[in-house]
Amino acid sequence: MPWRWPWRDMDTVHPITARLRAAALGLCACVLLGAANPATALYDKARTRYQSLKGQSDHQQYRHHWTRVIDSFDVVVSRYPKSPEAPGALFTIAGLWAELYAISKRDGDLKQALDVYARVATRYPKSTLADDALLKQAELRAKQGQDPNAATVTLKTLLSRFPKGDKVPEARALLSSLKSTQPLGSRASNAASPTPLAAATTQPPVPTVASTPSAAPHIVIDPGHGGKDTGALTAKDKAEKAIALAIATRVAEQLRAQGFVVTLTRTADTSLSLSERTGLANQLQADAFVSIHANASRKPDAHGIETYYLDVTHDRYALKLAALENQTNEHEVSDLRLILADLATKVNTDQSYTLARTVQTQLVKAARTRNPKVRNLGVKPSLFYVLLGARMPAILIETGFVSHKQEGTLLVDDAYQTTLADAIAVAVGGHFRTLVARGE
Ligand SMILES: [Zn+2]
Repeated sequence: MPWRWPWRDMDTVHPITARLRAAALGLCACVLLGAANPATALYDKARTRYQSLKGQSDHQQYRHHWTRVIDSFDVVVSRYPKSPEAPGALFTIAGLWAELYAISKRDGDLKQALDVYARVATRYPKSTLADDALLKQAELRAKQGQDPNAATVTLKTLLSRFPKGDKVPEARALLSSLKSTQPLGSRASNAASPTPLAAATTQPPVPTVASTPSAAPHIVIDPGHGGKDTGALTAKDKAEKAIALAIATRVAEQLRAQGFVVTLTRTADTSLSLSERTGLANQLQADAFVSIHANASRKPDAHGIETYYLDVTHDRYALKLAALENQTNEHEVSDLRLILADLATKVNTDQSYTLARTVQTQLVKAARTRNPKVRNLGVKPSLFYVLLGARMPAILIETGFVSHKQEGTLLVDDAYQTTLADAIAVAVGGHFRTLVARGE
């Protein structure tokens, strides 16, 4: 607390007593606090750093100067996510990644920019910057990412969510320029996906997506945990978050090679809330959400692979809510009830189950080529919070137990991770091709 009671040291007054005294005296604590609002102070500090970087072109050539400014804005968002400065700080972070990309040309920087813009619109849907973030995202996708179809999806999201917003004319203009240069459905042959889907398989082409006719399915791959949230740890302190990211990154590459459009919820060791993960998938109107994890147990002999699918059609979920609370500390039960009610009409449980079963079968088969003792723990309905927010078929894969001596060692092995990732990609790809073959 930066201010003190004028007549005595604040430290000697119990905070509640202090508040009561403030009320009794008619003092407005808000005004006093507002004079030294910590979020504003941090935001101003970050802006000063940003302006200083903009003024020093030699500094701009060094990555760490950019990440330092990004970190300064990130402090505002992570410490004061509900402050009025937070949406602007997040929006600026996305812009910084985009500027950095213009210099570095690293794909990772572009992805960060896209991810963070998506986060602005998801996390702050009522902010005046939400539609700006979507427009920026679409522009980046179209111009830098050379992915006009993904840009189209984003623009359509913008137009449907903010039909009266001030970004509508620009969004319409960009949309029509994309239509005239790149017909929908040609994504499979664009620069980002060198192998056309039709060439990668003799199966029929992938199905259409309701929102983007004749476009390839959009799969969101979610590497579990990240940042401060390490997930489970192996005996040698290797973190689940790193295993998940390695496998997920490879799955994404393999699916892109098959002609799918793939978005990773994170591409680096960054923290992301559970609702942001599915929020991104919903915003992209993805066709499937695949979350990748590794398991852990207090029982050292527990091992095996299991896949969970989103199933909200059973009454038993109400009973399990309390148990779920223990798994996540960021939401309250009341939120979950709302989400459940919302989901019940939107999620295709059959498709989630079929996808989970296909993945589980392929994954166990592939894992056994490296480790014949792998246990098939099966396909299970789930109330994992990360799956709950998804409005599309959603699965969560537990690729093995990091707590098991042998399985834990395998899970940090590059070749084993590749084996698992390739199996997941084959299964997800096969799932969508089967849907087409059946005309679904
Ligand atoms: Zn996990």
